[in-house]
Amino acid sequence: MIPFAGSPLNRASEKRIDPEWVAAKRRDPSSLILPLWRLEPLLLGPDKSAGPLQLGFLRPEVADAIPGAAGPCIFLGLDGDTALFAQDVAQGAENPATIAPLAGLGHFRDARTAAQMVSIRDAAIIAQAKAMIDWHLRHGFCPRCGTPTRMMDAGYRRLCDNCNSEHFPRVDPVVIMLATHDDACLLGRGKIFPPGMFSALAGFMEPGETIEEAVRRELMEEASVRVGEVTYYATQPWPFPSSLMIGCFATAQSRDLKVDENELAEARWLERRLARELIEGKKVPGLSIPPPIAIAHHLIKAWALGER
Ligand SMILES: [Zn+2]
Repeated sequence: MIPFAGSPLNRASEKRIDPEWVAAKRRDPSSLILPLWRLEPLLLGPDKSAGPLQLGFLRPEVADAIPGAAGPCIFLGLDGDTALFAQDVAQGAENPATIAPLAGLGHFRDARTAAQMVSIRDAAIIAQAKAMIDWHLRHGFCPRCGTPTRMMDAGYRRLCDNCNSEHFPRVDPVVIMLATHDDACLLGRGKIFPPGMFSALAGFMEPGETIEEAVRRELMEEASVRVGEVTYYATQPWPFPSSLMIGCFATAQSRDLKVDENELAEARWLERRLARELIEGKKVPGLSIPPPIAIAHHLIKAWALGER
């Protein structure tokens, strides 16, 4: 399973449109609330712990006592009969983990790090909670008329009372692709990557474009690599802030390569033998690939192990 994918929750979209049902569940003492402070989820356990840790789901009476718990509250879904919510607690000045009622209970950790310290199901919940609260905090005004909008459907819609326009949480599709040519795959090093770190090439899709067309365009723009067949592998929610990574393989027509220096620091073809060693955790001098939290790791792994 790819991290941030595989949520276990029933989003109950037919129930969350009923404000009375949502309000009753939010008050229900058996419901569970995940606080996020500055978009960082609460983890139970001490700050220095290396994990694995549990997400800091709290009973409503505890969550409501957190100073600063006045921001957006999002319905995440049902876990069996239990309703789960995410609550923004970043409206106060202090880190709430250091004061009552959370002092000694846990700590807030950035979503990327936290996702690597919890179970795969909890990582998927982090992706949903962080992307949703982030969207509300950045989209308080109507893009058509500038009037403040209000949250509807437990967080899955905003409504402008002035011009009646509706606004929905963003998901921004990104293609990420491993171009291959016989026994080599194409990797690039972004300008902000550490030295020696290479990954699959990626880019935002544009309006009026299919996934296959975006894959071909990005490979041509960034590396002047022309590809034939494009096949889908898997997708990954990537809540930084609201992307959906669409993982693909693409068959290159040659190994000719010309890097666009505005996009990449460098690019190279990597032999399958070396890719397999990196996936197996062996040290290859001067070369590294992204960790398993990134779908690029899984693309390289599937190809290196001959699964594609
Ligand atoms: Zn409006």
